Amino acid sequence: MSYVDEVLARVKAKNASEPEFLQAVEEVLESLRPVIEAHEEQYKKEALLERLTEPDRQIKFRVPWVDDNGQVQVNTGYRVQFNNAIGPYKGGLRLHPSVNIGIIKFLGFEQVFKNSLTGLPIGGGKGGSDFDPKGKSDREIMAFCQSFITELYKYIGADVDVPAGDIGTGAREIGYMYGQYKRITGLYEGVLTGKGLTYGGSLARTEATGYGLLYLTRELMKCHGMDMKDKICCVSGSGNVAIYAVEKAQQMGAKVVTVSDSTGWIYDPEGIDVALLKEVKEVKRARLTEYAAARPSAQYHEGRGVWQIKCDIALPCATQNELLIDDAKALVANGVTAVCEGANMPTTLEATKYLQDNGVLFVCGKASNAGGVATSALEMTQNSERLSWTFDEVNEKLEQIMINIYHNIDDAAKRYGMEGNYVAGANIAGFEKVANAMLAQGVC
Ligand code: NDP
Repeated sequence: MSYVDEVLARVKAKNASEPEFLQAVEEVLESLRPVIEAHEEQYKKEALLERLTEPDRQIKFRVPWVDDNGQVQVNTGYRVQFNNAIGPYKGGLRLHPSVNIGIIKFLGFEQVFKNSLTGLPIGGGKGGSDFDPKGKSDREIMAFCQSFITELYKYIGADVDVPAGDIGTGAREIGYMYGQYKRITGLYEGVLTGKGLTYGGSLARTEATGYGLLYLTRELMKCHGMDMKDKICCVSGSGNVAIYAVEKAQQMGAKVVTVSDSTGWIYDPEGIDVALLKEVKEVKRARLTEYAAARPSAQYHEGRGVWQIKCDIALPCATQNELLIDDAKALVANGVTAVCEGANMPTTLEATKYLQDNGVLFVCGKASNAGGVATSALEMTQNSERLSWTFDEVNEKLEQIMINIYHNIDDAAKRYGMEGNYVAGANIAGFEKVANAMLAQGVC
């Protein structure tokens, strides 16, 4: 049995109740086969893959808080510090009822490679809670965030572990968490990213993941002799990543015709009105039915359906496993050129394979959505320097980072004879740096 198969079997036996984590490990290890085989004896002796698939530590804690009726509520908090071989742990906090240890582990594992791809000195971690922010008052959100940080503060720090936003955690939540961290520790330090602009946040962080996705997509298209002008794009989701992906795609001359949320989706053949979308989602925190009510050209549909619409470029920006095999078939039948992931692992393994086998240019999230964490790392740099860069300075750095990522993953795939396989390229390029750092640092 090969070393990869041995480790895969062990990881499956040990984490049987964590399907998302197993899916992420399988995707990465399968595509690393040629690299591992080239160093099989050394990696096996060093137990490199066993160490890479076992988090440094997992922290799980109770989060009690009081709701507006005076009732005590209890949620579970998590932080998985996965790997700090190349820098302090870095990764977002997800607040969503679906959160469990397996989800956080899959996200933390992916984050290790993504952070490595940015070229910046950041390790991988992820955290969150099964708390559902939907329908909660501002006071309830604050009560939860304060309680969450009252436990988590023990394990994080500007040079230790720097959490950020993710699903359900935006600027409001980061603000409440930062306030509580400062209050408990007395430290004014860059311990969280995604902060408000008046207290250490970075310009362009809000836009970074969506914009970065489009910078990479444009480079991909350019290197295949195409541009973004007049391309029809389908986007899923309508949160932070989706909104700024729509905005940048339209600035580049493409037309985005869909967005979605967890209850339904919009088809707007005239092109999504970003200002209206921001008003509905960022200001009113309302459902997409309000977008449809205010926009005569928009059609609202219940349930799923975004990937049935004919498009040139598909940008899944909602959540994991939202683009399934039937969606991949519909996209291919409709002549899609490229699929670039804005969300983390939105495409199932089966759907990914189908897209790749049918000649679709496919870039996985750990490369194409790395702009968010890259800009978080730029926020850390500004905090350390006690400086704030301009929007254009940050945006230009982001653009260059995304272009570099594209070329790095392209080169890595070519080096191992897998030209055009950007999943393998991303995993290989991300892995090499982390693996070399781990080996150099001895058994730890
Ligand atoms: P938001 O909370 O801002 O938005 C999430 C969007 O996805 C919402 O439209 C939400 O709809 C929808 N959604 C969430 N869960 C589901 C579900 N189970 N089924 C269908 N739709 C769902 O999150 P972000 O935009 O920040 O994150 C989106 C994705 O991008 C995630 O995978 C995240 O991990 C990834 N990501 C985010 C980064 C960032 O900087 N924010 C960086 C890199 C990756 P509803 O409002 O109805 O819940």
